[in-house]
Amino acid sequence: MPAAPLKNADPTTTSVLTIDLGALRANYRALRDLAPGAECAAVIKAYAYGIGTEQAVRALSKEDCKTYFVATFSEAQTVRNAAPDATVYVLDGFFSGSGPAFAEARIRPVLSCIAEVIDWAAYCKGKGEPLPAAIQLETGMNRLGLPISEAVTLVNATETLNAFTPALLMSHLACGDEPENSMNKAQLKAFEDMRALFPPCPASFANSAGIFLGESYHFDVTRAGFALYGGRAVNDQTPLAQIVQCHARITQIHEGQAGETVGYGAAHTLTRPTKIATLSLGYADGILRCLGASDGKSGLSGYIDGHRAPVLGRVSMDLITLDVTDIPDALAERGNWVEILGDHTSVDDLAIQAGTIGYEVLTSLGHRAQRIYIDAETGAA
Ligand SMILES: *Cc1c(COP(=O)(O)O)cnc(C)c1O
Repeated sequence: MPAAPLKNADPTTTSVLTIDLGALRANYRALRDLAPGAECAAVIKAYAYGIGTEQAVRALSKEDCKTYFVATFSEAQTVRNAAPDATVYVLDGFFSGSGPAFAEARIRPVLSCIAEVIDWAAYCKGKGEPLPAAIQLETGMNRLGLPISEAVTLVNATETLNAFTPALLMSHLACGDEPENSMNKAQLKAFEDMRALFPPCPASFANSAGIFLGESYHFDVTRAGFALYGGRAVNDQTPLAQIVQCHARITQIHEGQAGETVGYGAAHTLTRPTKIATLSLGYADGILRCLGASDGKSGLSGYIDGHRAPVLGRVSMDLITLDVTDIPDALAERGNWVEILGDHTSVDDLAIQAGTIGYEVLTSLGHRAQRIYIDAETGAA
């Protein structure tokens, strides 16, 4: 410490996200190998879960990843620019009038209700080209997808079905993170039953957690998201390699006296003479406000060269304060780097402390930090 990549931090920078694209690639290979009979597609919605869409696509393309799922059309355009030949699906909605934009960028909608199917079919018919799209089936989420009644209607509407190319039949697990949950098998059965109604078509069912549920969940294409980014996709399981580290620089050191308070709301009273380090990092950077401390409640910890520094008081928008009393003076100095996410604290650790899931922590990490992309595998920084 400071971790090697921080030598590349700008002198003006107060916080750094270090993103290991080599680890991302290794995680991709691991997930692909867990479902050897299927193609492993990457889910890179929400700025690739916060790590950077273009960088993720370029790294995954090196592993020959050919199919990407995003949430929105603008995300799909970013993927298209970074990977001109990739297959790109937009998960969350297709509206009439957007056909030309999809067609022009060769982006495929995931059609999740009969109205979307009809709109896409009408557009393709008008264009005279049976363009590809995925069809999402409702198997238990009640969120997106054709329920069985609409699926039956569609299967009998041959003209609609023939106007475009159904390239993928898909559905999504509600409880994949709980391998024993009976919902998994129920959804699998519903998916198989509905799929059998359609003419033969490649199928996709498993998100990260589903990949770990075994072969019967894999079908033709898996959709790996959170696990790719080092998250714990299945409860109690050791996740794949962490790919994100977060460090912030000590902006100032204060000496506080017993009985004084720290931060907004004067919510945390010092119980001893305390050396306080202020870091330029706050909830606007994705360090959730509930990770603060107050009298009787502990919060997150930072680490300086392996020494733990617990947070004092509330997390503010741009600042947090840590107790560095027990850390050697030479380490707890203005300008030194403190690890917030890294060897000692994973995204999931922080999530547990915050009472949320790692997905939220990862996607909250702001865009204000300097991002340093490394590839620990190849040594490139
Ligand atoms: C987000 C998402 C995924 C990826 O899920 P992870 O749990 O992050 O692997 C897969 N499929 C759909 C439909 C999604 O919305």
